[in-house]
Amino acid sequence: MIIVMEPNASEEAIARVEAKIRENGLDVHISRGTERTLIGAVGDERKLEPKVFEILPGVERSLHILKPYKLVAREWHHASTTINIGGNIIGGNEVQVIAGPCSVETNEQMRAAAVAVGEAGACLMRGGAFKPRTSPYSFQGKGVEGLSMLKNAAAPLGLPIVTELMDVRMLDTFLEHNVDVIQIGARNMQNFDLLKEVGRVDVPVILKRGLSATINEWLMAAEYIAAGGNHKIIFCERGIRTFETAYRNVLDITAIPVLKRETHLPIIVDPSHAGGKAWMVPALSYAAVAAGADGLLIEVHPSPLDAWCDADQALSPKEFSVLMKTLSGICATVGRSLPQPQKIEIAHSA
Ligand code: PEP
Ligand code: MN
Repeated sequence: MIIVMEPNASEEAIARVEAKIRENGLDVHISRGTERTLIGAVGDERKLEPKVFEILPGVERSLHILKPYKLVAREWHHASTTINIGGNIIGGNEVQVIAGPCSVETNEQMRAAAVAVGEAGACLMRGGAFKPRTSPYSFQGKGVEGLSMLKNAAAPLGLPIVTELMDVRMLDTFLEHNVDVIQIGARNMQNFDLLKEVGRVDVPVILKRGLSATINEWLMAAEYIAAGGNHKIIFCERGIRTFETAYRNVLDITAIPVLKRETHLPIIVDPSHAGGKAWMVPALSYAAVAAGADGLLIEVHPSPLDAWCDADQALSPKEFSVLMKTLSGICATVGRSLPQPQKIEIAHSA
């Protein structure tokens, strides 16, 4: 059972609910979010009646949730949740596009990428400073230095940054560098210790779908983050592994309406890692938005042929700007909109 506390419920009210659950022989799980506290009664819930809690002060609602995932389930939160990232709302009517290179390489590359994605209308900038590579001999990312390079490139354009966290030990460093959105990559979707740690901070998380993860496993992974009190979770479908070898992964479009039904949290799509080829990215982006995605995560490099990582799938600035124009028409057709690109004037110091 989940007991939804009123936004300003007092500690005393929370303690009272906790005591009531324990009196009935169940365990308590408290998830303190920035907006509200959610209390879970864990155990044989058949012993509990929701109305017993609803008469207590500070309780907004209480209900049995049948799904294995609770806090992320739409069952208790019928309205879609929106997440505000520096004024950009993800999960609302606007489709937000996050773009940038696969990996942070040089200051020059990052500056050119920031201008390209910002001018075309991206709302956030991506760039990996820590890269999960199949081979230990491949470029592993610029590391901590890369975080500063990403921030320095994105800040003059007013773009919040998204970057992947692979190791719990780097979390404090991410916070010190004011990372706006923490990305949990496909390979770490079920790194439960990492999920628990990002569940403790107040930074939005993009949770990518694991390479072979079922929808249920993915939702349960998000539940780990929510259980810790971080309710700002954005799902990202990035293609799954199947028998097909003609492209990098299979973009599971079906996951979009299914997730929309199962969870109140936003879902975005990464067409770049799905197709694995730049020429596939526009078609997959259009399909994703038509199917209801709240945003896209797209790899863009100022000079794709020179990219140090994922060169085949990176769009050039020109290709990205063409994609954004067509996308705006698709958004309008499905009753959504794309934020208008701003004319940006920046004075970068050399
Ligand atoms: C990435 O976004 O650069 C990345 C490594 O993605 P994924 O975890 O989906 O493979
Ligand atoms: Mn990549």
